[in-house]
Amino acid sequence: MVSIADAIDIVMSAVVPTPAEEVGLAAAGGRVLAQAVRVPFDVPPFANSQMDGFAVRGEDLVQASPSSPVALRVVGTIPAGGRSDRLLDRGEAIRIMTGAPVPEGADAVVKVEDTRSVDPSLVEIHHAPARGEFIRPIGEDLKAGETVLQPGRPLRAADVGLLASMGMPVVRVRARSRVAVMATGDELIPLGAPLAPGQIYNSNAYTLAAAATEVGARATILGIVPDDPDALRDAFMSCAGFDVILSTGGVSVGDFDFVKEIMDEIGLERRFWQVAQKPGKPITFAARGGQLYFGLPGNPVSSLVCFELYVAPALRRALGHESVFAPTVEVQMARSVRTARGLTELVRCTLEWRAGTLVATPTGTQSSGALRSLSLADGLVISPPGQDELAPGSRPQALLLGHELGLSSEHPFATRRAEG
Ligand code: AMP
Ligand code: MG
Repeated sequence: MVSIADAIDIVMSAVVPTPAEEVGLAAAGGRVLAQAVRVPFDVPPFANSQMDGFAVRGEDLVQASPSSPVALRVVGTIPAGGRSDRLLDRGEAIRIMTGAPVPEGADAVVKVEDTRSVDPSLVEIHHAPARGEFIRPIGEDLKAGETVLQPGRPLRAADVGLLASMGMPVVRVRARSRVAVMATGDELIPLGAPLAPGQIYNSNAYTLAAAATEVGARATILGIVPDDPDALRDAFMSCAGFDVILSTGGVSVGDFDFVKEIMDEIGLERRFWQVAQKPGKPITFAARGGQLYFGLPGNPVSSLVCFELYVAPALRRALGHESVFAPTVEVQMARSVRTARGLTELVRCTLEWRAGTLVATPTGTQSSGALRSLSLADGLVISPPGQDELAPGSRPQALLLGHELGLSSEHPFATRRAEG
């Protein structure tokens, strides 16, 4: 039996990064960059107007103000996407739209609100612009030659937009890990089939496939394998095309728990079996040729908790992420929970802010078969091995699940409304 810390180290040291692949930019959001991105040309590539208004020469307008407007001759219009070959001369203005190139000779734009059109060829300007006012200079956003994005960066919407603004139709990202999910157990039947006595639906395969998808992997559900050594051997042997193989069930000490034995028999290098944790103690982990094999426990809570602790960080690391571990925060226990001495227990809790403190309340039964307790949980409160209780008011650490905690039911501007 190993500690959680050792198990995490063992798993992480076996991770092999996925290869790079090219994807079209429309599919690049959320993928992890596998290249450095150098800016090929200045963005924007030309100086352009930030406002709808008039391109002007500042020297003409030094005296302009609302009380003494200055009249300029309007010598043209430049729409966005258009251009003007005319050099702007003294006493002239060119009508210009947002995003249109600033004509030669102009050194500022006056917004339309600071002007009054006398007739189509004459405009009164009520404002003396500073040099460069409302002109977006060449390269304001990106300078040619600079490196804007580094490998390992999970591409956010703004990043994808930057790539698009440089005209890149494709980008190199890390391939998604191919994850196989295999459920084992004679009692399992597929969704949609009627339940006979003693049978249950194969929920784990769906839980784990969803979890793998959430962290950016590509999951394939392989179906149900009976508690039979030959069938298990065949199933494991058929996983050659996958990077990560997740099985559930059959790793404990029951009479029909053959997974560990079969994994050993087919030559997978077992790195550990059993971690001093609850839930999820009977997990086994093996690796071979860059493939990772997780023999997860059958209990629905145990298998998902093991996924969060070991599989999710491994998948994130394989994708090239630097930060791969769920964050922990200090919480305050709302009430007492008995915990297993000798094991690190992870207690499923809701987390709620009360007067600046994150209060943890257990989500009911902590049975490892009761998945609802995990569905309700915002975090897993950590009870160290030396402890047999999380006392009320104590301040243990909790591992955060999901990202819901960062979201609020009230929008952040509600309280600022009064401030104007
Ligand atoms: P095992 O690890 O095979 O001893 O299974 C432990 C418990 O998890 C048993 O109650 C199983 O019925 C249950 N279990 C195993 N596999 C699944 C699965 N794929 N979906 C839901 N429950 C399962
Ligand atoms: Mg079983």
